[in-house]
Amino acid sequence: MEIKVLEKDDVHLRMSVREAVIPFMNALRRIVTSEVPCMAIDEIVVLENSSVLQDEIIAHRLGLVPLKSDLDSYNLPEECPCKSEFGCNLCRVTLALEVEAKDGSRTIYSGDLVSENQNIVPVSDRIPIVKLAKEQKIRLEAYARLGKGKNHAKWQPVSMCAYKYYPKIEISKKCTACAKCVDICPRKVLAKSGNKIEVRDLLTCTLCQDCVEACPENPAAIAVSGEENGFIFNLESTSALPPERIIAEATKILDKQLKELEGQIKVKKSEED
Ligand code: SF4
Ligand code: SF4
Ligand SMILES: [Zn+2]
Repeated sequence: MEIKVLEKDDVHLRMSVREAVIPFMNALRRIVTSEVPCMAIDEIVVLENSSVLQDEIIAHRLGLVPLKSDLDSYNLPEECPCKSEFGCNLCRVTLALEVEAKDGSRTIYSGDLVSENQNIVPVSDRIPIVKLAKEQKIRLEAYARLGKGKNHAKWQPVSMCAYKYYPKIEISKKCTACAKCVDICPRKVLAKSGNKIEVRDLLTCTLCQDCVEACPENPAAIAVSGEENGFIFNLESTSALPPERIIAEATKILDKQLKELEGQIKVKKSEED
């Protein structure tokens, strides 16, 4: 397998993967969205709430605030030696929220949450939770835990994870450079240069085939297809974890699952013998 990072920043990762097969790409995508853990608020204890929103709605909103996660210092609750439903310092982080609208209405934002661990805080301070009218007050304690996207979307470390075939565009000698394909392309992949058509931005091609259909030649002078074993993998993190860490965790989990499967097949075979 040949993997090349095409683009990377704090949140996005785009890479080309060659000599791979669809089941592998799909397994990687599914593990990223459903098995790689991250932190999210899972339980709250409301001490005071005079806002217009019920406790349950506030709990739901707090649960969906993405939190910066630390996979090295915390255990998944089901794997923590404490075996406690409430959790311990190795599987639970407490965040407090105490806000009163003293001088007039005010909005409570994610940045008002005060965490006991400065590494486990909301990824943004500007996520609105609830608006308080004058003299309304909220006082609560929230408990964040590691969890997996397969149990609730709030534990998904990505806002997007998808792959597509690596595009392949061929323009034949029959091309008259009429530029109809250039004009119709929604992603501006093609460009006219003199009396030739050039591929300007191959990777943004969605393989929609609009250019092929617009070509007046019969058969079309342009052909668009996907490489059989080549893919572009795209990932956007919620900022809970760096994108490269998400991929690294996903490959570790896939490896573990394959080893477990191999072990089970061996056990079955020896039972049959
Ligand atoms: S297949 Fe679609 S996106 Fe790709 S070059 Fe043709 S029109 Fe553009
Ligand atoms: S539409 Fe067909 S003939 Fe016209 S420029 Fe594109 S490929 Fe060439
Ligand atoms: Zn614990």
